[in-house]
Amino acid sequence: MMDLMKRAAADLAKSTYAIALTGAGISTESGIPDFRGPSGIWTKDPEAEKRAYQSYAKFQRNPKEYWEDRLTGPSLLGDLDKMAPNSGHYALAELERMGILKYLITQNIDGLHQKAGNKRVLDYHGNAFKLRCVSCSARFEAREFDLRRLRMEGQLPPLCQRCGDVLKSDVVHFHEPIPADVAQQSLAEAGKCDLMLVCGTSAVVYPFAMLPRVAKQRQLGKEAVLIEINAEPTSLTEGKVSDYLIQGKTGQILPKIVEEVSRISERQPFK
Ligand code: NAD
Repeated sequence: MMDLMKRAAADLAKSTYAIALTGAGISTESGIPDFRGPSGIWTKDPEAEKRAYQSYAKFQRNPKEYWEDRLTGPSLLGDLDKMAPNSGHYALAELERMGILKYLITQNIDGLHQKAGNKRVLDYHGNAFKLRCVSCSARFEAREFDLRRLRMEGQLPPLCQRCGDVLKSDVVHFHEPIPADVAQQSLAEAGKCDLMLVCGTSAVVYPFAMLPRVAKQRQLGKEAVLIEINAEPTSLTEGKVSDYLIQGKTGQILPKIVEEVSRISERQPFK
């Protein structure tokens, strides 16, 4: 495994436009369960998955009821406010500070990459700490709204401060399209990168799972190097979309790779 970590560090040091894709696996070491890993929420409770498939339809049918449910029901992922980044998140933030990682596209809604210090983050499936307008797509910090007071006063759903239409959580639900701005920029980044680090995702949720495939189908005959770091092989491993898999925990592997990148860079400063 050490050999593969050294190979990843050398590939990163050589890259000119590296990006990272992350999924729920990078946050399990912060205490947030994933969905499809061995202790995942869906793995343990398939009914919870079926319920999650109803959220978007409920919002479209009755935004007030959707908000009532969100404010009174249990949170699937626990109290995200209290969660802290782990060594995997910090390693990716360090890689951005070093100027190597140009963008990070995450499926996670937990905001932990931003808490760890990454600045160039695309929240592909939205962010649990934000609300989004259904008409003009403006995002607002959830803390700007006293949602519990709105509920007590019968004022749900919250309304957009820009255009007055209804706000939903910024989190993208099943059957809900990915917001166009994020979808387009993510696609552009995947097309542009010459290295993609794919961390802690089963890569089965589309259209996100298309991004590694886009990085591998570059025009001009140049393909990105695709490195997977995951606890178990995925469809990217099996379909040979990734060049290699470093199997194990992101919180242990990523810091070692970044340490090795720093060591190489002392000998050969980065562009
Ligand atoms: P997933 O649950 O489908 O897959 C997670 C993968 O990570 C699995 O292959 C698992 O074996 C692996 N894994 C678990 N812990 C790991 C670790 N410490 N190191 C390396 N690998 C590890 O997750 P997904 O592919 O991200 O898709 C799930 C969807 O659910 C996403 O759309 C995401 O938005 C959402 N989700 C988000 C969070 C979060 O914000 N933290 C948590 C759960 C689910």
